[in-house]
Amino acid sequence: MSNLSNPIFQDETKAREWLEARVWPNGPVCPHCGVVDQATLMNGETTRAGLYQCNACREPFTVTVGTLYERSKVPLNTWLAVTHLMMASKKGMSALQISRMIGLPYKTVWFLCHRIRESLTTTPDLSPLGGQNKVVEADETYIGGKAKNRAHRKPAPKQAVFSLVERDGDVRSFHLAQVSAKTLGPIITSNIHKASALMTDDSPIYPKIGEGFSLHGTVNHSANEYARAYFWHTNTVEGYFSLLKRAVFGTFHHVSEAHLHRYTAEQDYKWNTRKMTDLARFEASISGIVGKRLTYRRTNEAQT
Ligand SMILES: [Zn+2]
Repeated sequence: MSNLSNPIFQDETKAREWLEARVWPNGPVCPHCGVVDQATLMNGETTRAGLYQCNACREPFTVTVGTLYERSKVPLNTWLAVTHLMMASKKGMSALQISRMIGLPYKTVWFLCHRIRESLTTTPDLSPLGGQNKVVEADETYIGGKAKNRAHRKPAPKQAVFSLVERDGDVRSFHLAQVSAKTLGPIITSNIHKASALMTDDSPIYPKIGEGFSLHGTVNHSANEYARAYFWHTNTVEGYFSLLKRAVFGTFHHVSEAHLHRYTAEQDYKWNTRKMTDLARFEASISGIVGKRLTYRRTNEAQT
């Protein structure tokens, strides 16, 4: 449900106060020296709203320092509204739809959506999926290649997405230029716990990699789904791919190679938070965006 009447989506001050309460539950944290609850709110006539001065290091700061909101001309309440609309929609919502709903230019919304997706990208230092008595399914799929949406009727090159899904757990997706034992091996080894059971299709890529796990089951994709065994299947990762494709083709029509990893990041995030309510997912995504301030800044610098 998308309820945009909440004041935090309408009013910039309300949005800032809400964000402060979320990220500073114990009082303002100085981003310069790390001191907690030792800052004074500046109240001058010409002072920016929400500007604090640290009593320890004397540096000024606001709640958005170092976040993707920091240098944005778009008001904070708009960022929150766009994030909310993206997070409340399981299938994904296009920038065009969002721009109609909140009355902002399409280009601005498109830009915000991409920045938000980027900030949802899973950090590489996560603990591995699976473990003892756990099953992780791995599979690859191809996105794109449909000619009908392209002006010159030439099919777009297909792009490979490789996903790992722990049954009843999280998903992690990777956008690959090439699918081979060389590209898949390191991803599988570093993202799946060795004690797991690994389920893959019967591609010759997997047997050698599979030896590193407590068990390796292979499935023939062309086999009738209903004929598959209760345990030996890759239905979970295939289900994830059908959601991803529905989001990409049904909502976004065309996803260029440069942006595919952002769409998979959004779908991964939604899958991994599927047991949350829409509101909880929105709140968690905001905490993630703001909590990743230093990582984000580093990524940003690497690109420019
Ligand atoms: Zn300080």
